[in-house]
Amino acid sequence: LAKESGHNYFQFYVASVDQEIRERKQLEKDLSVALHNHQFHLVYQPQVNLETHRIIGAEALIRWEHPEKGLIPPDEFIPVSEMNGSIVEIGQWVLDQACWQAARWASNGMPLRIAVNLSAVQLRQDTIVDDILDTLKRHHIPAGRLELEVTETSFMTNLEEAVDKLKRLHKAGISIAVDDFGTGYSSLTYLKRMPVQHLKIDKQFIRDLLVNEEDTRIANTIIDLGKSLNLTVVAEGVETAEQEYYLAQRGCKLAQGYFFSKPLKPHEFEIFVAGFHSKIVENNA
Ligand code: C2E
Ligand code: MG
Ligand code: MG
Ligand code: MG
Repeated sequence: LAKESGHNYFQFYVASVDQEIRERKQLEKDLSVALHNHQFHLVYQPQVNLETHRIIGAEALIRWEHPEKGLIPPDEFIPVSEMNGSIVEIGQWVLDQACWQAARWASNGMPLRIAVNLSAVQLRQDTIVDDILDTLKRHHIPAGRLELEVTETSFMTNLEEAVDKLKRLHKAGISIAVDDFGTGYSSLTYLKRMPVQHLKIDKQFIRDLLVNEEDTRIANTIIDLGKSLNLTVVAEGVETAEQEYYLAQRGCKLAQGYFFSKPLKPHEFEIFVAGFHSKIVENNA
């Protein structure tokens, strides 16, 4: 009997792996035509200065509207596109689109800084620095208007090369943020050598801030690290007034999260910006 059930289990296992492979192949196939078929769009999440209560910029986040499956979250398809290399083309589209939007907003009196996520695979491309600078030029965007978010894994494959590229980008005026800080192989050596200006505290440490003592200590440590290395700290995933208040008085300078706003479509973002200042004043009254 044991042998028999073992056999059944094995069959079940093979069948489910087989299905997984099929689904993955289908996803890759769908992904390969998504760009051409205009299935991607960007949403923008405001980034707020906790001292001045002003919106200083926005993070651009990609969305995939699949014709049959509906919205597929980036955590499901970005890793696949990194594996098969299509992130290079998708990432360039994101950059183009974000710069186009930034230019439009600037010409409407809204000169916001746009933060774009840059995959480690993109950073590894030989032409990436020129590609980024060309994109800025094409849209007449000053480099100071762009921030690139990279994760710690970007520094791991080829440190020298990554340092060199990020230095060139920074020299041109682009600011660099370390995304999801604290979740990767955070090394102080990397941090010291990388030309980065911003640290983003990963949302996993913010979620239970003030509830979980360890998370609170980790957040404190990152804020202090930022202060001593002269890096601006950004908290992501801020959802409550308590978290916002704590981070502000603890000296975290910037924040983003559902407390302020979820990521918004461009026209929603414009409405949000228009109403934001009065909203804060109202809250404080
Ligand atoms: P990320 O860059 O760390 O982005 C932050 C994620 O947290 C976003 O998820 C955002 O929607 C979500 N978020 C923001 N505020 C809150 C909050 O208060 N609570 C919670 N629970 N979540 C919040 P999203 O948009 O699903 O993106 C997931 C990840 O996919 C991003 O993490 C980033 O690593 C990747 N990604 C998104 N767009 C792009 C892109 O254009 N290029 C690349 N290479 N990666 C991207
Ligand atoms: Mg990010
Ligand atoms: Mg992040
Ligand atoms: Mg993340």
